Amino acid sequence: MNNKSKINRNAPCWCGSQKKYKQCHFEFDETLKSLSLQGYPIPNRSLIKTKEDLAGIKKSCQLTKQILDDLNTIIKPGITTNEIDQWVYETTIKHNAIPAPLNYKGFPKSICTSINEVVCHGIPEDRVLIEGDILNVDVTCIINGYYGDSCRMYPIGKISEKASHLINITKECLEESIKNLKPFDPINKIGDTISEIAARESYSVVKIFGGHGTGKKFHEDPFVFHYKKREKLMICAPGMVFTIEPMINEGNADCIILEDNWTAVTKDNSLSAQWEHTVYVNEDSIEILT
Ligand SMILES: [Zn+2]
Repeated sequence: MNNKSKINRNAPCWCGSQKKYKQCHFEFDETLKSLSLQGYPIPNRSLIKTKEDLAGIKKSCQLTKQILDDLNTIIKPGITTNEIDQWVYETTIKHNAIPAPLNYKGFPKSICTSINEVVCHGIPEDRVLIEGDILNVDVTCIINGYYGDSCRMYPIGKISEKASHLINITKECLEESIKNLKPFDPINKIGDTISEIAARESYSVVKIFGGHGTGKKFHEDPFVFHYKKREKLMICAPGMVFTIEPMINEGNADCIILEDNWTAVTKDNSLSAQWEHTVYVNEDSIEILT
């Protein structure tokens, strides 16, 4: 943290752009300074990505997106989540990328597959997907050390109207939270939007998991809350990259972690859905990278 150190306005900017500070991040620092005085935590400079970082992150996000797109033609009744995992593993390796979940803190597979009442972090297995299931696949690729993280819901064959509604509303939560967010807003805005939509539908927002900063590490600051927080949360400053990944339950928000130490399920066995994007905070908008 060296945000407070004085820089000569004509000296090269701290961001590495080679521009003069006064023509680069001077105003940025002034804005953050005033927000900090209002009590908002402000990002450490290590969270502000360089152009090179952004290009690297975009590349891995692009592969993640492509894989999630292609899964639409692969996922259907009769396939197992292990088969989906194997396909993603092979595709990732073919693109000279690494599947980030594999061996992450002992996670045994290349993707997370969360079916029906599974909230997140489900482990691919030999269970055959059947008509009516709803499946979340969470993919993170690493290319040249940069992470690209996203997840989507896949209906298996024809699904119930209530499952379909849950999936659509969860997607709306993600999309609206991005639309409502502006550069220099506090992260609170994200949870406010998601909570309001979920409450409107009498759904609940999972609290024990959140989104996260990402880049050269799988998880970095900030922690992205998906529900309303009273305390002032970190400011979304231009240059930051993080995920937004609301998990919405049909019933209660409470979760249980199974004995495999990964799989999170709803305590009341109700359905759960999740959608995720990695986003970049641009100068004047929030850019979806996945
Ligand atoms: Zn700069």
